[in-house]
Amino acid sequence: MSFKGKVVIVTGASSGIGAATARQLAAAGADLVAVGRNQNHLNQVAMDCATLGKMPLLVVADLTKKDDVKRVIDNTINQYGKLDVLINCAGFGSLAYFDTEDAMKDFDRTMDLNLRAVVNLTHAAEPHLAATKGNVVNVSSVAAINNMAAEWPNLWSYCVAKAGVDQFTRCIAWVLAPKEIRVNSVNPGPVRTRFLENVGCKDIEQQCLEKLAGHTVLNRVSEPEEVADVIVFLASDKAKGVTGASWLVDNGYDLC
Ligand code: NDP
Repeated sequence: MSFKGKVVIVTGASSGIGAATARQLAAAGADLVAVGRNQNHLNQVAMDCATLGKMPLLVVADLTKKDDVKRVIDNTINQYGKLDVLINCAGFGSLAYFDTEDAMKDFDRTMDLNLRAVVNLTHAAEPHLAATKGNVVNVSSVAAINNMAAEWPNLWSYCVAKAGVDQFTRCIAWVLAPKEIRVNSVNPGPVRTRFLENVGCKDIEQQCLEKLAGHTVLNRVSEPEEVADVIVFLASDKAKGVTGASWLVDNGYDLC
């Protein structure tokens, strides 16, 4: 799959699935815009990309801030003059039980990044994607479909936000189809990244991964590269007939 001449924004490029996606796209010849908050992590990923292909444009941005969202798009157009693909990968899970003081604050934080930032960035990118007949890939979760709150009740706001991402994917795929813009989502199950550490499971990460793996029919968790493979396929011209789809990459988590 060649991305030569294609300009691709990857959010969440400083870690995990986004970093793996950025590396694969760099190897495929893309002109990349790598977005994240942690400058050191972004620099490391950029060096990998430069070795595999080209040095990406780096944008340090907090995507819960509207000015930062605008800056991502402005910097992309200033540097490359166009945009072909937007990959909305940045996200996090937060843990707060519904019947606690923290619940509503947690809900806002979760929605702001996992859903609102996806909508804001897609909205800001839309005129540029219309010009190139480009596409969007949103990184959602099996939590959008599976009632993970049955086992992890404090993950409820994340499940709600990711369900919103899937429905946004379907609605906007329909809305943007006349402009020949495709919109899809990838829905991972458990993946070995910093996600669990960021959720607050630092010391019991291995235990959590084992519990999550035990919930899949294949009894395993994914590596970030496996999810990146599917993201890159959906972003490529090979997927020209795919839009409005949510593709599970969950080792059969949702089957259990
Ligand atoms: P990581 O924690 O490894 O990466 C998360 C990325 O999101 C980082 O690059 C981080 O940037 C970025 N990010 C977080 N907050 C912000 C913010 N406010 N503004 C800009 N960027 C931000 O996790 P994953 O790679 O696993 O997660 C990628 C996506 O996959 C997420 O959407 C997640 O919900 C989804 N997912 C992950 C699963 C898993 O098991 N790992 C399962 C299902 C879905 P920085 O570190 O620079 O702050």
